[in-house]
Amino acid sequence: MKNKISRRNFLKLVSSTGVLGTSVLAAGCSGKPSGGTGWMPNQYEGSKNYPIKVKGRIAIDSKNPSIMRDDAKCILCGQCLEVCQNVMSVYGSYELPIKDDTPCVHCGQCTLWCPTGAITEKSNINEVVKALNDPTKFVIVQTAPATRVGLGEEFGLEAGTIVEGKQVAALKKIGFDAVVDTTYSADLTIMEEASEVAHRVLKEPNKLPQFTSCCPGWVKFCEYFGSDIMEHLSSCKSPQQMLGPLIKTYYAKHKNIHPKDIVSVSIMPCTAKKYECNRPEMNAAGIMLGDKNIRDVDYVLTTRELARLIKMNNIDLTTLEDTEYDSILGEGTGAGKIFGTTGGVMEAAVRTLYWLVTKQDPPEVLLDWQAVRGLAGVKEASANVPGVGEVKVAVCSGLKNARIIMERIRNHTAPWQFVEFMACPGGCIAGGGQPRTSLPPSDEVRTLRMQNLYKLDSKRSVKRLSHTNKEVQDLYDQFLEKPLSKKAEQLLHTHYTDRSYQLTIKNK
Ligand code: SF4
Ligand code: SF4
Repeated sequence: MKNKISRRNFLKLVSSTGVLGTSVLAAGCSGKPSGGTGWMPNQYEGSKNYPIKVKGRIAIDSKNPSIMRDDAKCILCGQCLEVCQNVMSVYGSYELPIKDDTPCVHCGQCTLWCPTGAITEKSNINEVVKALNDPTKFVIVQTAPATRVGLGEEFGLEAGTIVEGKQVAALKKIGFDAVVDTTYSADLTIMEEASEVAHRVLKEPNKLPQFTSCCPGWVKFCEYFGSDIMEHLSSCKSPQQMLGPLIKTYYAKHKNIHPKDIVSVSIMPCTAKKYECNRPEMNAAGIMLGDKNIRDVDYVLTTRELARLIKMNNIDLTTLEDTEYDSILGEGTGAGKIFGTTGGVMEAAVRTLYWLVTKQDPPEVLLDWQAVRGLAGVKEASANVPGVGEVKVAVCSGLKNARIIMERIRNHTAPWQFVEFMACPGGCIAGGGQPRTSLPPSDEVRTLRMQNLYKLDSKRSVKRLSHTNKEVQDLYDQFLEKPLSKKAEQLLHTHYTDRSYQLTIKNK
C-alpha cells in the first residue's frame, strides 16, 4: 500500500520535524497545487522511493499567475526552497499553517534555480498566438529594457549580447502590428518619480525616504512584510503599467483604433509582471474609457517565452537585420535603458531630479555614477543637488537585502531620502523570466548583461537624460500636461494593499 501523507499530517510535520532527517521542508499548499495533487510529487509518494538527498520543495498555489511546476520533472532537490528562503526571504518568514494563498512574490527566481526545469513561468503564448491570428485585433507589444541583453542567449549568442534591433525585427516578422519600447515609459516613470521625490524632499520630508515601486515582486513583498512602512512607496506604477493605459488611450486616439480592438502584450524579463498586469486596479484605461473590462496590459510573455515564440515561427534571430521601434511610444534614452539593472533606476532618477530642481543638466559624475553600480546587494551614495543639498540614496537587490533597509527605516537609523529596491539579485537583467544561461544564475552572466546595458546608455544612445525624451515631452504637451497632473495621477499612479493579514509573520 502506498504511504500517502495527508494535508493535516503534513502541516503537523512541517511545524515540527524534518523529512528523513533533512533540514528544509516545503510550505503547505492551498487548493490543488499545480504540478501534483500533494506536497510530494506523485512518483515519490511511497517513502521508500524518495531520492536519497530529498529535501522537499516549495509549494506553488494553483492560482499563482506567474509560475507553475511540472511534477514529473521534480527531483525534490530543494533548490527552489533554498532560493525562496535564503535569497528572497519569503519562504520561512511566515508561520504555518498558511492563512490564505501560499505566500509568493512571483519573482520567478525558483525557475532559475530549479535544475530540471520543473518550475517554469505560466505560459501565455497560446493567448498571444490567438490574438495574432485574429484579423480584427491590433496587437501591440512593448519590450522591457533588460530583454535586449538576454534574448540572444536563447539563440546561442554570448551572455549579454545586445539584440535590441533584432528583437524588434523578430516581433515584426511574427506579426505584431506595432512594437514599442518600455524604455519610453521608463523615461516617463522617471519624470513622475523624480517629481514626486522632489516634492517630498521640499514639502513632505516626513514621507522620506521614498521607495521605488517599479518592481512588482518588491511591491508585493512590501505589502506582505512592510505594511507598516508602505507610505514610503512611490505611487508611480511600473514602466510596464504606465505604458499599458497610455496604449489604450493616448496611442489609440492618435492612431484612430478602438481601445477594445487593441491587444496589449509585454515582453518582460520577469515573471512577477504576469501577476502585476492581473492586479485588479490595473485597469486605469478602462476606468477612463468607461469600460472596466478593458485591461491596461492583456498578456505578458517572459524573455524565454518570446524565444519559444520566435522558434515556433522558424525565425533565426541571429540573422535578422536591426529594426527600429515604432513611433509614438518608441523613443527611449540611455537613462531609461539602465532601468534594467540594479542601481539604474536611481541613477536615471537622480540625473532628472538634478534637472528638475536646478533646471541644469547634471554633472558628468551622475552620468557614470559608479557608487550605485555593480552587483553588491546594498549600495549607498550621495549626490549634491544645488537647492536641495546632499541627497542620500541607497540601492538594494535581492529581497533578503531589502530587509536590511526596512529595519533601518523602522529603527530610525536610515539617512537616505530615496531608496531603490529590486527583488531579483542584480535587478531585471537577472529576472525570473530571463534565459537560464547558468544554473543558478552566476555573477558572470549578470555582469555581462549589466555591462551591455551601460554600454547602450553611454555609447549608443544620443540622449542620456529621461527629461530629454522628445516623445515623452510630446505626451505631456498633448495629453498629460505635466508630471503629477490630474490625468497623470489617474493613469500613471496607483495605490497599495496591506497584505499582512494574509500571513502570520514569523518573529525570528
Ligand atoms: S516565485 Fe519567488 S517568492 Fe514565489 S516561490 Fe518562487 S522564489 Fe519563492
Ligand atoms: S528546484 Fe525543481 S526539481 Fe528541485 S525540488 Fe524544486 S521544483 Fe523540484
